[in-house]
Amino acid sequence: MDPPPLRRSPLARAPATAALQAHGLHVLEAMEFKMPVASEWEEGSEVLVNTSSCQPFCRRSAAHDKEELFQNVLTQVAEQFSRAFKINELKTEVTNRLAMLEKRVELEGMKVVEIEKCRNDIKKLREEMASRNNSNFLEGNKKLTPRRDVPSYPKYMLSQQTIDALKKPAFDVWLWEANEMLSCLEHMYHDLGLVRDFNINPITLKRWLLCIHDNYKSNPFHNFRHCFCVTQMMYSMICLCSLQERCTQVDVLILMTAAVCHDLDHPGFNNTYQVNARTDLAVRYNDISPLENHHCAVAFQIFSQPDCNIFSTFDPESFKQIRQGTITLILATDMARHGEILDSFKQKVDNFDYTDEEHSTCLKMVLIKCCDISNEVRPMEVAEPWVDCLLEEYFMQSDREKAEGLPVAPFMDREKVTKPTAQIGFIKFVLIPMFETVMKLFPQIEETMVQPLRESRDRYEELKQIDDAMNEVQKMKSENLTMGGKKK
Ligand SMILES: [Zn+2]
Repeated sequence: MDPPPLRRSPLARAPATAALQAHGLHVLEAMEFKMPVASEWEEGSEVLVNTSSCQPFCRRSAAHDKEELFQNVLTQVAEQFSRAFKINELKTEVTNRLAMLEKRVELEGMKVVEIEKCRNDIKKLREEMASRNNSNFLEGNKKLTPRRDVPSYPKYMLSQQTIDALKKPAFDVWLWEANEMLSCLEHMYHDLGLVRDFNINPITLKRWLLCIHDNYKSNPFHNFRHCFCVTQMMYSMICLCSLQERCTQVDVLILMTAAVCHDLDHPGFNNTYQVNARTDLAVRYNDISPLENHHCAVAFQIFSQPDCNIFSTFDPESFKQIRQGTITLILATDMARHGEILDSFKQKVDNFDYTDEEHSTCLKMVLIKCCDISNEVRPMEVAEPWVDCLLEEYFMQSDREKAEGLPVAPFMDREKVTKPTAQIGFIKFVLIPMFETVMKLFPQIEETMVQPLRESRDRYEELKQIDDAMNEVQKMKSENLTMGGKKK
């Protein structure tokens, strides 16, 4: 048996304590970190397991004490290193976080700058709009941003054939792209002598027409092509009825301009929808012809831009006259006023007086109404696609009305309406009576305008008979099938 280990003396511990303290570690603290357990003591052969509480380490060997101390120091050093590493890790993490935060602050800062820039831009635009227009209900409508450049649409050289065809109701309105229609409209203003007589700037005319085009929505029916159709029919009627010999050039300018502007910014949903859905337009115009009021307002917002104002050379009185005349005609296109306007015209037509302003205004109102709903005057192959366009727009509305729980008009309901049923009543009870009344004043329209309407009515009545017969056969077939099923 080896000699018993030396007692641990306080002196023997002193250097170690000093070393530990030099590392900034308290001795007691160090001891607490590694209290030897029973099994460790047992491993040392010289050491007896100490059960006494008064002298815990007295029987350990000095070598063992040293080893233990060394172990403790090592542990503490490792711990210190570990802490140092942890601090480093922490430092890295904090640095990374700081970098991220800096990045975010930078990005947020950029966003703030961008937002501020946008705000300023919007403010400038609003101020520009406000300075150009008295009302602000079209605020934010980019389409109305003035075009300072000369319109880029090419000036088409219209062939003599096109120039001649433009004056006739049979003109095929489907053959032309937007730019070509713009050139045709431009030609009409020149051809009627309006550019010359009113000293209209030809570049302003181009810009105005382009702005008009941009302010028609791409609805199935109420789009720029419809605007072109109505204006081309007006031009045809002016030519056919020799209106320039009977009316003033101001009247002609009003007729043409009202036709061009009459459905501006049409949303594709009619007045009934506007009122029932309580849209902004219905609220703004107190349910009184909301759409027509809107078309007018948009038209004069466009004129309020100097770059698009074809009336810029007019004196205030003349402008007032043009403005009043245009407004009256556009408001007359509300079909809710059809009976009232036609009745008024019927009372005047037999004793029509071109010098009477009331007569003249009433005639212009009827003329724009005729042009607005004149598709069926055109040849069948030109007219028929418009019925599909109109039904498409109607069905969009009725679908929306159903979805929103609003009343649905039967003539707009895809479950109830067919092309013949949609057209027959309209041609028989609206179109023919109106055109026949106008025919009293201008008998020359019978051949090119009234006769095509009668033919169209007859054709749709035949189609309806075929539809009815087909439905009858279908009904009988299904009845037979049911009877057969019952017999079995
Ligand atoms: Zn229209």
